[in-house]
Amino acid sequence: MDLTYLDIPANKIKQLQAKGFNSLEDLVAYYPRKYIDFRKTIKIEEAREHEGELVAVFGYVSNIKISNSGKAVFVNITDKTKTQKMSIVFFNQEYIVKQFVIGGYYVFCGKVSWNSQYQSSSITAPMYYAEGEKAENCTRLIPVYAKVRGMAAEYLEACIRQAIEILTNSASAVNLCCDYLEPEVIKRLGTISKVDLWQKAHHPKTDDDVRAAQKRIVIDELFPFAMKMGQKKYEHISATEYLMPKQDGMKKFIANLPFKFTEGQAEAINTVVDIMQKQRVDALLQGDVGCGKTVVALTLAALVIDNGFQAAIMAPTSVLAEQHYKEACERFKGTGVKVAYLTGSLKAKERRAIITEIFEGKVDLVVGTHAVISKDVVFNRLALTVVDEEHRFGVEQRNALKEKAKNGVHTISMSATPIPRTLATSIYGENINVINIRSMPTGRKPVQTILYSNEEKVYEAIYRQIKEGRQCYVICPLIEDSDDETMADVDSVEKTYQKMTEYFASRPEVNIAMITGKMKKDEINDQIALFTAGDVHVLISTTIVEVGVNVPNASVILIKNAERFGLAQLHQLRGRVGRGKHQSYCVLLSDHASENPKLIAMSETNDGFEIAQRDLELRGTGDVVGTKQSGIDKYITLMLQNKEIYAAIGKEVDTIFEGKLRYDKYAALE
Ligand code: ADP
Ligand code: MG
Repeated sequence: MDLTYLDIPANKIKQLQAKGFNSLEDLVAYYPRKYIDFRKTIKIEEAREHEGELVAVFGYVSNIKISNSGKAVFVNITDKTKTQKMSIVFFNQEYIVKQFVIGGYYVFCGKVSWNSQYQSSSITAPMYYAEGEKAENCTRLIPVYAKVRGMAAEYLEACIRQAIEILTNSASAVNLCCDYLEPEVIKRLGTISKVDLWQKAHHPKTDDDVRAAQKRIVIDELFPFAMKMGQKKYEHISATEYLMPKQDGMKKFIANLPFKFTEGQAEAINTVVDIMQKQRVDALLQGDVGCGKTVVALTLAALVIDNGFQAAIMAPTSVLAEQHYKEACERFKGTGVKVAYLTGSLKAKERRAIITEIFEGKVDLVVGTHAVISKDVVFNRLALTVVDEEHRFGVEQRNALKEKAKNGVHTISMSATPIPRTLATSIYGENINVINIRSMPTGRKPVQTILYSNEEKVYEAIYRQIKEGRQCYVICPLIEDSDDETMADVDSVEKTYQKMTEYFASRPEVNIAMITGKMKKDEINDQIALFTAGDVHVLISTTIVEVGVNVPNASVILIKNAERFGLAQLHQLRGRVGRGKHQSYCVLLSDHASENPKLIAMSETNDGFEIAQRDLELRGTGDVVGTKQSGIDKYITLMLQNKEIYAAIGKEVDTIFEGKLRYDKYAALE
């Protein structure tokens, strides 16, 4: 139902739309980030016993004082008898003075602290209401939402309340937003209906309400994921006509490489070649950044091409795709294999020419972004697709790949964030071939990881590296609007740029560049190109360089507010350096670095598989605070933290695929 059903002014509707809400259904699905429990009301004289707790206190305002600096406002309150006193403190909110009347009766909700010097209790920056106004409304479990720009928290809450009422009361609406879970499934999963969820999530009366709502929210997150995985399992295809009897071409390709394969690479190739002799390959090729997955993919492409077929290699970004293309051109030089490059940024004419060649079979290997699997790209005899970092691809692309798999095309997805085999099979099903490369090419010095809290000292170390001819990455966390309060201690890319330019002002030979969210794709690529060429010494960015930039001359990666990144992500970032012959360093900057289990793990091991294991352990215990996860990572975390719920959902998914529940109803989920 449209947002205009809400009885609120047009400008408020606009604010909701700006946050991305397009319907009442969207709005009611905006669940609180947390709840504050103000059900406990206490008397002023009891305050000391409740030090550190969240409480609601009623009191009469006796006087209001402003500190000399003008920064703090003290609203002093007493009980009826005027014998018990306490202070309510507001910082940087001078206007607050006008909100209170001396002698007025109010309720204040916040955390109590005890000041032994003054022998009195206080609450800082509480929520407050005048009596009669909303005192009752205040002493309850209060939902806390991520901010909607321009809208007060209470206003948002009222909008959601209205939306729930409209949706629940309108018969047609109930049908529209009807639950995808059938009543029997709801019962089996021990959960609640959608309509109940709205009530319990937004207006919980008890802790049980909150728990029930949270369980249903988890189910709603995991169900579509489990369906997708079920699909992989039940629709797996192992039949293929593309068997690869000839291996001479591949052997020649290998003999021409400028290096010898590592044990892991050789094993990975053997495994895939073996399977290709009899059935379709559906493999997950995992290995740390730098272990040499690309050349494995190219070797398999050589095999397929030698047998008379075409191959395609895809990467999620054009930067990465271009690197693959360059490596492909180099490795296939002089072999007669025709390699083409296909991205979204090609001119229409060039694109058409390449597509025609692919269609006519003149091209053997296509390297590119997801443009490679657009509808208008028709292959002549495609037999292998390799996808680098598959989980970064969207639904559409995955479906396109699935269509190709139906025809027997072999699929390999490569990932630098390994997941243990058991977890991989429980996610993707038993039919997937999990292939791990655990060895690194020799001659690499392992990256040294250093935990640090003094930023300027790191700048000095960076300068020493630059003087020796090296380059450096600086990574800042992404700053999100919704998190203003918790992002207070985080420097943005712009702020860091400013700091570093000031610091290096007296050494103009140091070139510093940044990549910001406001920049266009072209501008970003320009900066990366300058860095790749060595013209820029320090590149400051968010995690945009996480995937795919290969600058062997870079020897330092400084990660600011390292505690805010996920363990797997930190390890990925560390892989940006140590790609050349120089000793490289990963500096993790964080205030309490030595107490943080993620950062400790980083300093203890360089092995991606070990990191993956520790990451899962930490995630299972819920220690993922402050890391924004997306895609498959988010689901893995949810799975690990809700093992029983996921198992129960798994059973339902089996029932659906075995035809005992209406498949189409659930298949539409996503
Ligand atoms: P990733 O697994 O991270 O994708 P790449 O495929 O980008 O790793 O390989 C990193 C670099 O190592 C490339 O320059 C590649 O040519 C090189 N390389 C790959 N295999 C070997 C090997 N066996 N010996 C030496 N260098 C190798
Ligand atoms: Mg790679």
